[in-house]
Amino acid sequence: MNPLFSLIPSERGPIVNTWEQELGSALEISLEITGLVPLVQINYQVSKAQPVASDPAGRKPDLHSSVSGTVIDLKKDFITIREEGTRVALPADFSATNPVAMLDNLRLNGIDIRGYKPGCTLIINAVPHEAGMDGHRFLIEEFTDIMVTGLNYLKKALSPKACALTVPAGMDWTIPGCTGHEIDPVYPNSLPELVTKAVTGKELPPEVTIIDATTLYRIGRTVHGRQPVTLVIVKVGNTPFLTPVGTPAGVLLKLAGFRPAEHDRVILGGPLTGEAVYNLKHGVRPDTQAVTVINSSSNPTFTDNPCVGCGECVIRCPARLMPNMISRHAEFGLYENCLAYNIASCFECGLCGYWCKARRPLLQYIRLAKKELAAQPIIEDLREQK
Ligand code: SF4
Ligand code: SF4
Repeated sequence: MNPLFSLIPSERGPIVNTWEQELGSALEISLEITGLVPLVQINYQVSKAQPVASDPAGRKPDLHSSVSGTVIDLKKDFITIREEGTRVALPADFSATNPVAMLDNLRLNGIDIRGYKPGCTLIINAVPHEAGMDGHRFLIEEFTDIMVTGLNYLKKALSPKACALTVPAGMDWTIPGCTGHEIDPVYPNSLPELVTKAVTGKELPPEVTIIDATTLYRIGRTVHGRQPVTLVIVKVGNTPFLTPVGTPAGVLLKLAGFRPAEHDRVILGGPLTGEAVYNLKHGVRPDTQAVTVINSSSNPTFTDNPCVGCGECVIRCPARLMPNMISRHAEFGLYENCLAYNIASCFECGLCGYWCKARRPLLQYIRLAKKELAAQPIIEDLREQK
């Protein structure tokens, strides 16, 4: 099997704590705040777990500082904080029992609750998102009690009809209170849309809430510790790091022994669905599970080549879409035309771009079109995804 598509978790190695490593200077975290409003200014002293940016519309989760420190830079999309001191924010209040307030308390503490539906079938997805992105194995094997805390909180907030845990076939992971389902560990079977279909037998059923196992852990840890979770497990090569949100990609690459050359691409996430960063100061996000280097000498880069009409992307698309046509319209800014090709049904697996004979950046065109369409107030279904 193409190793890029194998979702069999690797053997568990030791977790490397970033803060125990010799960095040479104080850690400077870079928090991405795109779409949020900053709550701090330059030279503000912030505490670990203090909210530093929020969504005035109350939809996206608050973002918190993962370190105690000083704000040293503030740009439209990023806050940079230099670590110093040991200040910690006051504990959060999770005493509310009203389901709406319970969910909003999660949002205020950094959990993205968009898509959470009362009375749903709740699916906890523990299949690695992409090959090698299996750092959550440590969480699910070591912190069953925290997972159960998260599950019990969601049961009160959502009153789900049923709870399911999906695991790669052959793994004996369980969470008390969830019915287990094995998934053939081949990409893209890990993606929420396909996991949902495997569990329910239906395509895009409206009555399902699906979250990954790491998010369930974060919910449990947040409720248990009454603090937003400020650490993430990020795999770089074969090394899983436990590191503050906002740790620059370059710091993790250096600790893992990677030296990206000019024209190599550094990606937050995996090679199929991740997003390239502009520079190595870009910090990992709360949902980042891997930092990947794509070597320019062994992988042909994407270009703006015209589509040659080979049809390969159409054959490979698991959503049965026409990425060739969507990308042609998106390339020339004809975003609304993409609606006729059901762009909203694209679940961004990246397979079309991977197989494209002309090396067109198909997923990037699709994401661009979705973003532009989401900015239009009438396209509610796309806006919900962002
Ligand atoms: S990313 Fe491409 S292959 Fe994947 S669902 Fe979207 S259009 Fe289809
Ligand atoms: S794979 Fe690439 S070249 Fe072939 S039809 Fe799709 S977009 Fe066009």
